[in-house]
Amino acid sequence: MRYDGPTQLYIDGEWTPAVDGGTIETLDPATEETYATVACATAKDVSRAVAAADAAVERGSEWRTMGPSDRGGLLHAMADEIEGMADEITLVESHDNGKTPFEAGLDVDMAVDTFRYYAGWTDKLTGETIPVPGDRLDYTLREPVGVTAHIAPWNYPFQLAGRSLAPALACGNTAVLKPSNTTPLSALYYAKAAEAADLPDGVLNVIPGTGSEVGSTLVNESAVDHVAFTGSTGVGKHIMSEAADNVTGVTLELGGKGPNVVFPDADLEAASKGVHYGIFMNCGQMCWAGSRLLVHKDIHDEVVDRVVARAEATPLGSGIDDDGRMGPAVSESHRDDVLEYIQLGVDEGATVVAGGGVPEDTDQGYFIEPTVFTDVTNDMQIAREEIFGPVLSVIEFSNFEEALEIANDSPFGLSAGVWTTDIDKAHAAASRLDYGMISVNEYPQTFPQTPFGGYKESGLGREQGMEAIREYTQAKNVNINVGLDTQ
Ligand code: NAD
Repeated sequence: MRYDGPTQLYIDGEWTPAVDGGTIETLDPATEETYATVACATAKDVSRAVAAADAAVERGSEWRTMGPSDRGGLLHAMADEIEGMADEITLVESHDNGKTPFEAGLDVDMAVDTFRYYAGWTDKLTGETIPVPGDRLDYTLREPVGVTAHIAPWNYPFQLAGRSLAPALACGNTAVLKPSNTTPLSALYYAKAAEAADLPDGVLNVIPGTGSEVGSTLVNESAVDHVAFTGSTGVGKHIMSEAADNVTGVTLELGGKGPNVVFPDADLEAASKGVHYGIFMNCGQMCWAGSRLLVHKDIHDEVVDRVVARAEATPLGSGIDDDGRMGPAVSESHRDDVLEYIQLGVDEGATVVAGGGVPEDTDQGYFIEPTVFTDVTNDMQIAREEIFGPVLSVIEFSNFEEALEIANDSPFGLSAGVWTTDIDKAHAAASRLDYGMISVNEYPQTFPQTPFGGYKESGLGREQGMEAIREYTQAKNVNINVGLDTQ
């Protein structure tokens, strides 16, 4: 099926080609065929988009002076528009990224819920009065930060763009969205939704392009007040240092190496199912993947057998015209990176007990077998680095203390899973794990209402929930001397 969606940049309420007429060709990773060709922005297009966003958020602009309920109404309208296009976006995302329509559908549902959730925040953005000494009235106003840039990765292109756009818009900011040039398509549907919902011109601009030119130019634009970046830790560090030049705020949602810790008293069937889901969903291309399975020695073999059985029974395929439950890697180069990690694991002395390569019976698509390594120690590279593919490293532990020590011994701190039927153990583990998100007896789980983000090198700041409201507003303090004697 050929792509039939939007193909141009969306700047200041207009669909427009890139200044230099450049384009991006995207491949369907399940077929290796060209799926779509869309405009590829340049640095000049960044300037156009940022100027439009800047004008739209000026004091006195339509967006800035709009009543909070009206702004909420527009976000609800965007949610309705997205919902109305849900089937189309799902299929486009599936062709563009390789995830199955089932997985892509969940992403679209989450984006709709996120817009609805933040639509409800627009008229609840309150400051506070603060008791101070003397005869004074002191209060804070919560104001928008201004122009927000949103730089999104390829693994959840639609959902993650919406995750930061919705709170930024709800707080009265304007936005420039740059999707990954590997998966530029679904982001353009936010522009379609904004146009159909009648958002004022310039409030949302969408400019697919490369990270090195468009992403970097965006970060360095002096009119950009906040950068919401989701992507790799290396690029996140670079963006943070570049943003320092203009003292631009950043939210960084970066990589992970999540431990899924299974204690002997756990429901082993539920745990095996959760472990499987937590590493093989989205072909393992998840920041919060449970890529390390920490399992107690008494149940090690039983859990491994169950996880391996599930891995080997996972049907590979796009899920579009077949019954595939795990799609391909996003690109040939990324598949090759994952295969290199699998070879590295073998070289480091780990044992492949499931998968370990490309499936023999597929002649097209960047598929990788769901792979499980045992005999992994936490100092191996496959246990320390983010592989970002369907590769699980199993590490044995002997007691609670050792489990927590191994789990916390990581440069990352995004998400951790705990499997136990002992409520005390669950709370103790949750309180001592150095991770931004803990899931007990399911993995992984998040909601628009709950904060998403990581400790350590997994990021800075939080998306989702009321935490995101703080990222996209700034406090202004007002002190009024109400005493008769002013000096
Ligand atoms: P990436 O860092 O390569 O790219 C992310 C985005 O940044 C893309 O849009 C890219 O074009 C842009 N970019 C690249 N170089 C840039 C630069 N110098 N300046 C500005 N922008 C630049 O990441 P990816 O490969 O697209 O995504 C995978 C990574 O994202 C993984 O590490 C994964 O863990 C992480 N991720 C994190 C979360 C989270 O919420 N914590 C969610 C999803 C993905």
